[in-house]
Amino acid sequence: MAKVPYTVPALDDLPTVPRIKPGAMSELKSYVAVAAHQEPLGFPGELVENWEQAAVAKMGELLGKYKSLRVYLDMCVKCGACTDKCHYFLGSGDPKNMPVARQDLMRDIYRYYFTPTGKVLGSLVGAKPWTKERLDDWYNYFHQCSQCRRCSLFCPYGIDTAEISMAAREIMDSIGLGQKYCNEIIGKVHKIGNNLGLPEPALVNTLEGLEEDVLDATGHAVKFPLDVEGAEVLFVTPSADFFAEPHVDGLIGYAKVFHQMGLSWTMSSYASEAGNFGMFIGNYEQMRKIAMRIREAAIQLKVKRIVFGECGHAWRVAYAFLNSLAGPFDFLDPRYPVPQHIMELTRGAILSGAIKLDSSANADKVVTVHDSCNIARATRMGPEPGSQFEYPRFVLQAACPKFVDMHPDATRERTFCCGGGGGLLTDELIDIRIKGAKPRVEALRDVVEQHGVTHMASMCAICKSQFTKVLPYYGYEMGMVQSVHQLVSNAILLGGNS
Ligand code: SF4
Ligand code: SF4
Repeated sequence: MAKVPYTVPALDDLPTVPRIKPGAMSELKSYVAVAAHQEPLGFPGELVENWEQAAVAKMGELLGKYKSLRVYLDMCVKCGACTDKCHYFLGSGDPKNMPVARQDLMRDIYRYYFTPTGKVLGSLVGAKPWTKERLDDWYNYFHQCSQCRRCSLFCPYGIDTAEISMAAREIMDSIGLGQKYCNEIIGKVHKIGNNLGLPEPALVNTLEGLEEDVLDATGHAVKFPLDVEGAEVLFVTPSADFFAEPHVDGLIGYAKVFHQMGLSWTMSSYASEAGNFGMFIGNYEQMRKIAMRIREAAIQLKVKRIVFGECGHAWRVAYAFLNSLAGPFDFLDPRYPVPQHIMELTRGAILSGAIKLDSSANADKVVTVHDSCNIARATRMGPEPGSQFEYPRFVLQAACPKFVDMHPDATRERTFCCGGGGGLLTDELIDIRIKGAKPRVEALRDVVEQHGVTHMASMCAICKSQFTKVLPYYGYEMGMVQSVHQLVSNAILLGGNS
């Protein structure tokens, strides 16, 4: 691939609002999907001739279907509270990366075609018709939104730019202007079962290799079971866990937890992906098809529970939509939540004494944690409010003797996106990915300098991939990024719990 140009912004002290740089990111364009990526998903192969009318018709359909979309487009009072809350604006200075400006790309069109004042008064009330330039702005800037929802936290009306961005992508797909990265991946899941297109024999080889590695390293026959009928737990994890670093070390950690608990579990070659990129393109039908693979695998393997591994958007889809998309799950054991997060399972095992951790195994590290935006602002991990923050911290503090939180403005519900979520984890977008990571890296630098932090734990496959790629641009080593269950893996006592 040709080298993609990028610049690395200088880090500032938190919080700093950048100088406005109009048009700074206007030329940054994600690769457009071709017919081979579009048509298998039921989308037109290329931009249709009558795209303006088709886009207006699709927008009308979505406005009828999603009442929140119309409310968000009507409600903004231009108070400006969201303007400096997006990591892509903070990193790039491009005013169109302000959440309200991103929303306005759709709001202007909405006013022109769907409001009486817009139809009569046009640009006097900010209503604008479709033009090719406007469509280009839609494509570029709605693919510079990671759908992290940080802006909605600060909006007095809770206007959710993520939902507007999802709707925009759904409209663009419907007129033949899809994004290659997301749509190619969704096609792979439909065809093969996972985002990476990893076929079953490769999966079997990988898991067998891991069993040998863990046996060599620990002397314990920890299993990585695949397609075992009658197992208690179906475990669904992002496919990056099967080979990428540090993801695979997290997979080893999950396996050790199951092993030590004596809990029978299995992964599925049919549903070998927890991620669900259907959400990134705002398409419930694609989301449903991907989610149905998990239901079908659970039925086929006759499991009693479904547990998810570390992945932010996968957990958001699972937590918020799995039951409505692929339920009812009345064939599972009603004593357990459907689905359950691995963090809840591990925390419960620590509390009950089913597993024991020796935190001295991580004594060489000072650890902080990155709250993934999809987990932080869209889910819980247990029944209590805030469990999505407390459970990972409990597990990390049990596994690591030295734990430090980053600044409160950059953690928990205020967490900054890693910069690579929402369908942006693709090489041609590296420039905005680097810039979008800036606020997180500033908060990280703060605890490195103040507290000697050496490692940042993450509970999301996309965050791990993004950070291992972009941290080196800011002078940090990719090995600084750890899976939460990698740290558990280091500390867990196998065998007699002594
Ligand atoms: S990336 Fe996040 S903060 Fe920025 S506009 Fe999108 S949802 Fe809002
Ligand atoms: S904070 Fe909400 S109301 Fe204020 S400008 Fe942003 S989107 Fe509009």
